[in-house]
Amino acid sequence: MTADRLPRVVVVGAGPAGAVFAYLLATRGIQVTLLERQSDFAREFRGEGLAPSALELLAQLGIDDALAAVPQATPSALEFYSRRKLVFRMEIDDEQFGGLAPRIVSQPAMLEAIVGEAQKSPNLTFMRGTTVRELLRDSEGSRIQGVRVHSPDGEQRLDADLVVGSDGRASVVRRSGGFQVRAEELPMDVVWCKVPRPAFFGDDEPTRFCIGSGHLFISYVAYDGQLQLAWIILKGTYGELRKQGIEHWVDEMANHAPPDFEDHLRAHTSELASPFLLSTQADCVEQWSLPGALVIGDAAHTMSPVGGQGINIALRDAVVAANCLVPVLRGGPDPAAIDAAAARVQALRGPEVSAIQRMQSMPPRIMLPQTWWAEALRRLPELLRFAPVRALAGRAAQPFAFGVTRVELEV
Ligand SMILES: Cc1cc2nc3c(=O)[nH]c(=O)nc-3n(C[C@H](O)[C@H](O)[C@H](O)COP(=O)(O)OP(=O)(O)OC[C@H]3O[C@@H](n4cnc5c(N)ncnc54)[C@H](O)[C@@H]3O)c2cc1C
Repeated sequence: MTADRLPRVVVVGAGPAGAVFAYLLATRGIQVTLLERQSDFAREFRGEGLAPSALELLAQLGIDDALAAVPQATPSALEFYSRRKLVFRMEIDDEQFGGLAPRIVSQPAMLEAIVGEAQKSPNLTFMRGTTVRELLRDSEGSRIQGVRVHSPDGEQRLDADLVVGSDGRASVVRRSGGFQVRAEELPMDVVWCKVPRPAFFGDDEPTRFCIGSGHLFISYVAYDGQLQLAWIILKGTYGELRKQGIEHWVDEMANHAPPDFEDHLRAHTSELASPFLLSTQADCVEQWSLPGALVIGDAAHTMSPVGGQGINIALRDAVVAANCLVPVLRGGPDPAAIDAAAARVQALRGPEVSAIQRMQSMPPRIMLPQTWWAEALRRLPELLRFAPVRALAGRAAQPFAFGVTRVELEV
C-alpha cells in the first residue's frame, strides 16, 4: 500500500458500462461512487437490443433473478425483404444460441436492476441527479484527481484516485480530459418511432430488415409489446422530411415496407407524429486512459447503430476494466499501478472495437447511395435464398453476435 487509506474510484454515468463496472467494483470490495445526471433512467431513449455476447456476460454477474424480472422480448425470426419482397426468413432458435438468443430489453429496467443489486453492497455510493461538470487536476496539472459536480445539494468536489468516464457519446470526461478523438463520417441518421403491434403477426414476432432504394427500414416487437420502427435515412435529410409533413414521411416509409405493413403504417399515421431522431456518430479516442482517468463504453468509442452493438461493447468494456482494475485497487491507491491497469483496458478492448467499427462502416455505404453500383449491391440480399450464401453471411455476422475476442469475468 502506498497510503494508509482505501482507493477512491468515481464512475461518471450509470449507463450499461458504468452500472456494470460500478457493480463489479462494489461487490468485489472496492469503494466506488457512481454519478448519474438523470434522476430516472427512463428519461431518455436508450438502446434495447442485446446480443448473445452481452447476455453471456450478464449471466456471469450472478444477478439472474433481478435480470429475469426485466421486461423483455425475444424475436421469433429474422426476415429480410428486398424491394418489398421477402427474400429470406431465419427462425431464431434459443437452443442454437445456447439459450442466449438475441433479446430486446427495457434498458431503464435493466439499469435499475444492476444498480439495485450494486446498492446492496456498502461499498457503493450512488448519486442520482448529479452531473459532472469537469475533471479536477493536481497542482502540476499532470494527474486527474477528481471531479466537480452539480448535485441536488449544489456544487461539490469529489476526490478520486481513478475517474472512470462512462458518460456516453457526449462525454464530459472525454472533453474535460482532452482525450483526442478520431471520428468517422456516417452517411445516415435513424428515425425511431413506435406503432401498435400488427394483429396479423399472430404469435409470430419477426424482426424485419427491409432494403429499398436509398433507405433501410427495420422493425421489431419491443419489450412493451409495441412495434419499434427504425427508419434509416440519409444524414441531414430529416429536416426536409419533417417540413414535407408526416403524411409524406409515412408514404415514403410505407413505400419501402412489405405490403402487409403498408396499410398498418398508414392506419397509425397519427401515432407516428412524434418521431425521435438519432443523429448517428462513430468515433474512438486515440488513448483510453490518462494519469488518473479511463474512458469506457460510448465515451471511449461511440458506436454506429449498425448491428446494435453499443450496449454489448459497453458491457464487455466494463467487464474487462473490472478484470484489470479490481486486483490492483485491492492493493491500495498506488497511482502507477492504477494507471498501468487502466492502460491495459485499451490493449485488450481496442482490437475488438476497431474490428466491429470497420464492419459497421460497410452496410450504410452499400445501402444508401443512389448510384447504379449501390443499386446492384442492394440486390445481394436476394442471394440469401441460396444456402452457401447464407452460410457465408452467417459467418460474417458472427462477430456481431458473439464478439471478436473472448471476454470473461475473471474477478
Ligand atoms: C436511439 C438509440 C438506440 C440504440 N439502440 C441500440 C441497440 O438496440 N443495441 C445496442 O447495443 N445499442 C444501441 N444503442 C447504443 C447504446 O445505447 C449505447 O452504445 C450504449 O448505451 C452505451 O453505453 P454507455 O454505458 O457507454 O453509455 P450510455 O448508455 O450513453 O450511458 C451514459 C450515462 O451517463 C450519463 N451521463 C452523461 N453525462 C453525464 C455527466 N456529465 N454526469 C453524470 N452522468 C452523465 C447519462 O445520463 C447516461 O445514463 C442505441 C442508442 C440510441 C441513442
